Amino acid sequence: MSQQSGSGPKPFLINGQWVSNSREFFESVNPATGELNYHVSIALPEHVDAAVASARAASRQPAWRDMLPHVRAQILLRMASLITERAEEFARAQMLENGKVWSECKAQAGSAAATFRYFAAVCETQGAEVTPPRGNYLSMTAYEPYGVVAAITPWNSPLTMEAQKVAPALAAGNAVILKPSEVTPSAALLLGEVALQAGLPAGILNVLTGDGRITGKALVEHPGVRMVSFTGGTASGRAIGMVAAQRLIPAALELGGKSPHIVFDDANLDAAVENIMGGIFEGSGQSCVAGSRLFVQRGVHDRLVGLLAERAGKIKLGLPMTQGAEMGPVASFGHRDRIEKFVESAIAEGGRILLGGKRPEAAEFEKGAFFLPTIIGGLDNRATAVREEIFGPVLCVLPFDDEEDLIAQANDSAYGLASGIWTGNYQRAWRVARALETGLVWINTYKQLSISTPFGGYKDSGIGREKGVSGMRLYQQSKGIYWSMDPRNMA
Ligand code: NAD
Repeated sequence: MSQQSGSGPKPFLINGQWVSNSREFFESVNPATGELNYHVSIALPEHVDAAVASARAASRQPAWRDMLPHVRAQILLRMASLITERAEEFARAQMLENGKVWSECKAQAGSAAATFRYFAAVCETQGAEVTPPRGNYLSMTAYEPYGVVAAITPWNSPLTMEAQKVAPALAAGNAVILKPSEVTPSAALLLGEVALQAGLPAGILNVLTGDGRITGKALVEHPGVRMVSFTGGTASGRAIGMVAAQRLIPAALELGGKSPHIVFDDANLDAAVENIMGGIFEGSGQSCVAGSRLFVQRGVHDRLVGLLAERAGKIKLGLPMTQGAEMGPVASFGHRDRIEKFVESAIAEGGRILLGGKRPEAAEFEKGAFFLPTIIGGLDNRATAVREEIFGPVLCVLPFDDEEDLIAQANDSAYGLASGIWTGNYQRAWRVARALETGLVWINTYKQLSISTPFGGYKDSGIGREKGVSGMRLYQQSKGIYWSMDPRNMA
């Protein structure tokens, strides 16, 4: 049941079997040290064919197709227990590959288990509907799985993202092919192990490793895949959405963000500072909901920026395993290069570095992809660093005059994932929350997330909502059934 790769590249999972590709594989590198973790097999189009065929066949077997929801829920609960038992293994897999600090990886492993428990409960309690008739018939809406769902995930939080897709898609009765990011393949492979351990029939969860160009593309284009659930960058999401449109299959797209974090002059500044910090520097800013554009009302601008720079200057950078480390490296060396280019562009466009803006100098960070917490002022909403998603520990601060000015600036973005508002005025909080074009709004808090509240973006931040009871419906299609009650129609 466990991955037995010997000395070769890590295998992927098809139909309950671990399959290696010793000719084509990629490197997994620890971003904290630059050391090679291991090699990982690439799933080629022929492997995608085999995975889809096995998923399709398994999803049609009575053992899965006719499994009653409360029995399916038991499997999900067993998966939750196994993730809890193996939480350190899951956390370590993520930490070695994306460099997040240990405390965050551990918390995310706990959250993955909780997601399986939540969707087990949704699975067991989900009903269908009897709808109001307009004649002598019984009309109902039943909910059925799509069949084979492709779940494609990014590298920033594989533990939570993968649970967020796999648990509801299985709860809904589908077979799933999970394609994790090539930067973070191992959490998904562990999930494959746990599924088999928990008694999920072979083929109901297949895990394919490889990049987007080869493995991901072949998966989305495969005629046997009937629904795609994708989390990742907006450009990839758009490419996947175009294939899905051509194939007339649904695609749920959770994409990038450039979220405005807003502080009015009547806010609790100390609380705001703590949340702004967490909102942008936790996970080295590699969060889709990172509050990366900070709008501060002019009257408190300089005071707030001073408090923030002082606090952010004390962030404890560290190797991910270091006790008390608040921020680790970014997920890869290539990604750090990209972040540096954005910082250079900000300087070229008139930005002032108020904090950081470079790599740390201490010897312990030399070999890793570290970058200092960075605050940039002096830019306006047209600057590249303000418009584009940097996905790193870089905060751009912009002043605003009044509510009207703020709303115009905050909404002047292609993205619309999340936003945060700090104010002591509840009427203003409500007005601004309704005026912001984002799928999520936090008022006097930030990055508060719960599995029971639907999550997703407006505008270029995506289509569809994950999480919540409706997070399971995302993976189902409805069927209307009319049943005549007219005795004359009976045989
Ligand atoms: P990415 O788009 O490069 O890759 C995401 C996944 O898609 C990977 O598994 C990749 O291999 C695959 N992929 C890429 N192109 C593909 C294609 N054409 N067909 C099929 N698969 C393809 O994203 P990333 O760099 O891994 O992650 C960072 C991005 O993810 C950021 O933009 C971030 O905002 C976004 N993100 C969004 C959310 C959200 O919920 N909205 C959450 C986390 C991350």
